[in-house]
Amino acid sequence: MHELSIAHSLAELAIEEAGSLGMRRVRALYVKLGMLAGVVKEALHFSFDVVIQGTPLEGAELIIEDVPVVVYCSRCQEERTLPEPLPMRCPVCGTRTAEVLHGREMELYALEGEEGDTDDAPDRRDQAERSQEERPFG
Ligand SMILES: [Zn+2]
Repeated sequence: MHELSIAHSLAELAIEEAGSLGMRRVRALYVKLGMLAGVVKEALHFSFDVVIQGTPLEGAELIIEDVPVVVYCSRCQEERTLPEPLPMRCPVCGTRTAEVLHGREMELYALEGEEGDTDDAPDRRDQAERSQEERPFG
């Protein structure tokens, strides 16, 4: 099940990205998944939920956008989107083609979350609240 290692790389990449964006909490990962990428979506969802346990991504949602297969037809000299990943034929003229332009990719293209960038006041407020809570009654 190679989805597990894919989920792992996705999670690592997202944690790195979130860090460089100054995100405190990641709510969702947006991934483009080509229909020829050879990844089973359900397995990836499952693996992702397992992999993010105990990481800063815990609770984040994986949102997968299917990328259809787009080929270049040399007869039409056009890009054609295939209604089904296979067979790889131009849906207009029926010419076989192996020139895949899209559909093999898997790409993390966006993160959604809470950023802690512009203002550090919430941090100070958190600290104040915490120290108040720690004060004994009376
Ligand atoms: Zn064609």
